[in-house]
Amino acid sequence: MKRFLALTALFASTAFATPSGTTVIANGTAIDPGTGKIIPNAAIIVQGDRITSIVENSTEIPKKGDSVIDAKGKFILPGYIDTHVHFFQSGDIYTRPDAVDLNTVRSYKDEHAWIEKNLPDVFARYLRCGITSVVDVGGPLWNFKVRKLANSTAKAPRVAIAGPLISSVSRTQLELNGDAPIVKIDSPEQGTQMVQKLEREKPDYIKIWYIVNADNPVEKFRPTVHAVIAEAHRLKLRVAVHATELEAARTSVEEGADLLVHSVTDKPVDDAFVKLLKDKGTILTPTLVVFERYGLTFANKLELTPEEKAWGNPEVIASLDVTKIPEEKRPDRLKKAMENPQPVLDSIQKTYDVALKNLKTLEDAGITIATGTDAGNIGTIHGSAIYREFQLMKQAGLTPMQILQCTTANAAKTFGGETGAKIGSLQPGYYADLVILKSNPVDDIKNASDIDSVMKNGVIYQADSILK
Ligand SMILES: [Zn+2]
Repeated sequence: MKRFLALTALFASTAFATPSGTTVIANGTAIDPGTGKIIPNAAIIVQGDRITSIVENSTEIPKKGDSVIDAKGKFILPGYIDTHVHFFQSGDIYTRPDAVDLNTVRSYKDEHAWIEKNLPDVFARYLRCGITSVVDVGGPLWNFKVRKLANSTAKAPRVAIAGPLISSVSRTQLELNGDAPIVKIDSPEQGTQMVQKLEREKPDYIKIWYIVNADNPVEKFRPTVHAVIAEAHRLKLRVAVHATELEAARTSVEEGADLLVHSVTDKPVDDAFVKLLKDKGTILTPTLVVFERYGLTFANKLELTPEEKAWGNPEVIASLDVTKIPEEKRPDRLKKAMENPQPVLDSIQKTYDVALKNLKTLEDAGITIATGTDAGNIGTIHGSAIYREFQLMKQAGLTPMQILQCTTANAAKTFGGETGAKIGSLQPGYYADLVILKSNPVDDIKNASDIDSVMKNGVIYQADSILK
């Protein structure tokens, strides 16, 4: 018997102390993207909620009394991690009244009530898609209740949370009962106070929404960005920044941002920016799928992937057919896009021309890229949007193994904390959060959705049964 990963002393002792309750996933091919290691004919031993060892070509395993999952011909990976989602948004057409106001069709209050009621459904859809952890990078204070609920729900991903977005602009259309997802901050002092207020909720991230426009040039908000990051770091909190312009992104990283939550979409990244990310160890989440989804939905050109059609919430998907909205209730932005879709399509293409090239540049330079979708935004379907993200990452020139690494080991770094250190890899001591595939994703990334079963916290779910 050849041991690839030695048992640690700790787990060796628990292994002998509790001989029952052991599950062995036998005969499959284990793939650990973080190390690039592929172990044929592997036996993955799980006790309780943890992986205790991984062995190649074992003849002594499983032992009598072990529960065995035969994974012959299958491929076992760490569960996927989506590092950019928003639970306060459903992905349906009503979820961003600041973008298209359809309050006359469904009020935002009703939309939020629907979202709250459907949280267990959304959680289950993540598991169905092989996603066992997510980072919610911003929403109302209500977000912290979501994290609590996810933590006490078996069929749910692990959830890391940011609270309200700190910004130079506000979006009052999204405010319910005084709980706003986006808070306008007018001075560095206010920014510092906001961080102190959020710290009480034990956030996984402080989020800055760095919006640049004619009224808000990059330099104007910089002192607030500086104060927020300084205070957050003093309180040992990490900071995630939305900055899609090169200069805003550069400023954010210079000020110490730990995570950039989108691609730079206005310009090619330059050598100085790449070096800055590298020197500072900043992680970047590209969120490619979201860049097409608002526009395609409004222009009535949305074509969901088979995964989204199969595993997305049917009510959310049905709402995205904009032809069903009575003509007199269509806001201007929607009307215009429906009447004349070409400029919308051109703008999406222009964004991708820059963003995909930037992703390739950063990946080649060795920057830590973490997969994320921005799911919850209009047309970006919770869970299954990750498979469109994979297609776009592939289009950018990433290999299947690189995409898988971004979705496991790199994404785990993004998740952070004690949990982040125990997810995203097949190693002894890590949480038994796994996805078992029927075909090899290293051959073709499209196989990443060919899911046989999903293990979360040591509990195995047949993929087909999860949404029943
Ligand atoms: Zn977002």
